[in-house]
Amino acid sequence: MPALDIVLVPALSDNYVYLLHDAASGATAVVDPGEAAPVEAALAERGWTLTHILNTHHHADHIDGNEALKTKYGAILVGPKAETARIPDMDVTLSEGDTYDFAGHAAQVFETPGHTTGHISIYFADSDALFPGDTLFSLGCGRMFEGTPAQFWDSLSKLRGLPDSTRIYCGHEYTASNAKFALSIDGDNGALQARAAEIETLRAAGKPTIPSLLGQEKAINPFLRADDPAIAAAVGKSGADPVEVFAAVRKGKDTF
Ligand code: ZN
Ligand code: FE
Repeated sequence: MPALDIVLVPALSDNYVYLLHDAASGATAVVDPGEAAPVEAALAERGWTLTHILNTHHHADHIDGNEALKTKYGAILVGPKAETARIPDMDVTLSEGDTYDFAGHAAQVFETPGHTTGHISIYFADSDALFPGDTLFSLGCGRMFEGTPAQFWDSLSKLRGLPDSTRIYCGHEYTASNAKFALSIDGDNGALQARAAEIETLRAAGKPTIPSLLGQEKAINPFLRADDPAIAAAVGKSGADPVEVFAAVRKGKDTF
C-alpha cells in the first residue's frame, strides 16, 4: 500500500492541522482541526472530500473545527477514549495499543499523557508518520498542564522508541523558540547548532520547520534526552533519575 499523502495546513496563529489522503480510495482524514475554514479551503483546492477527523486531545485549538467539518462532510470523528467527556460527539474512541484502520492504513495508538491526561499520539508505520499533537514538538514538548513528570517522561520514552526514520507532524510551529531554549542548555551540541541555523533560514523564508525527523530529534531535543548525562548536568541534576531531570528541563522552559 503506498504511503499516505500528507498536507500541512496552517491554522489559527501557530497551529498545524494535517490532511491525510489515501489516493486509492479517496479517503481523507484531518488531524486536530482547530478551525474549519483553512481545512475546507485545502480540501477544495485538491478536490478531496473529508471522511475522517482524528483528534489527539481536547484543547480548543485542536478540536474547534470538529463540529463544522462533521456537519459539512459527515466525517467520522475519532479521538482519545480518556477524553470522551471533553470532546463532544466522538464516533470512535481509541486507547493504548489500539490499531485503527484508516482506508487500509494502520493507525497505531499510544496513550501519551502529560500535556493532557487523555492525550493520544497516532502513528502510521506504513507512512513513517507520527502525529503527537502537543506531546512532542521539534526541539520541545508540550506544556505539562495536566500530567506529572513521570507520566510525561514515560510518554516521550514511548515515542522515542519509534524508528529513526519517523517524521513528526506536531501541533504547533514553536520550533524557533524551542531552539533558543535548547541552545541555552546544550549550546555545544553541533547537531543542534546546525538545526537551529536551518530553522532560522526556514522561518525567515516563511516556511514550516515541520515535519522533523525522530532520528535527529533524539540527538538534539533536550526533552527526549532526560536520561542523557549531558542534559542532566546542564540542568544541575547529574546522577538524578530521568524523571527528575525531565521535570527540571520542563520547568526551565516554562520560565525561560
Ligand atoms: Zn494542547
Ligand atoms: Fe495546541
